[in-house]
Amino acid sequence: MRFPLTDPSPVSKRVPPVCKSERVLVVCDLDGTLVDQVAAAQAWAAEFVEDWKLPDAAAESIALRLRERRPKGSLFQDIAEDWSLRVTGEDIAAAYRRRMPELVRCADADREALRRLRAAGWSLGIATNGTVANQEGKIRATGLASLVDAWVISEEVGVRKPDPEIFRILARRMGHPLEGWMVGDSLEHDVAGGAAAGLRTIWIAAGDRPLMKSYRPTLMARSTAEAADLILAPSTS
Ligand SMILES: [Mg+2]
Repeated sequence: MRFPLTDPSPVSKRVPPVCKSERVLVVCDLDGTLVDQVAAAQAWAAEFVEDWKLPDAAAESIALRLRERRPKGSLFQDIAEDWSLRVTGEDIAAAYRRRMPELVRCADADREALRRLRAAGWSLGIATNGTVANQEGKIRATGLASLVDAWVISEEVGVRKPDPEIFRILARRMGHPLEGWMVGDSLEHDVAGGAAAGLRTIWIAAGDRPLMKSYRPTLMARSTAEAADLILAPSTS
């Protein structure tokens, strides 16, 4: 069953009104939420295929494999062996981490949404799983560093979403109580993790991924810009 992306209202109507004193934090995920990780991975795979003179068709399968949740060194080792490349998986992973920050993009509409949230009095943070080199590189290269107040990266703090501790660390870093919203595209990491930390949640349901019954986001949106609209709507804020 496909999630009815055109109508978030069945969930949003059940949201209780929030008083202004709760206008504290909006925490956003990075990959798939603030930056288009899938498009960047496709661009990287196309470059990789060109660099190694692999068949053009390999780019699509490599881009798909980049979505696997496993250490990149071992993932790239498998790719190197599949194509008999004389390079180690770790060397490819290092090149990947250097290049990806240059390939990711943050949509102008999402950038503007962060400005609107800030103007309305929200403090903004990013909570992301991954390596510092890659994730912080993306945050800086896209200009997000100047649009948010703080960020936390799992490698740096030793805990990963959905562990609520990563959200507590971010809130402490920002000097705020852990109150507000978590916006993200992962039901497991962002919705369940954010809820476990006491945050209301907005699931970025891009594409046609089904909503699993075991996860109940407070609201759903198709983009960070739309999530900001929901947070700023008079019925919510
Ligand atoms: Mg994500």
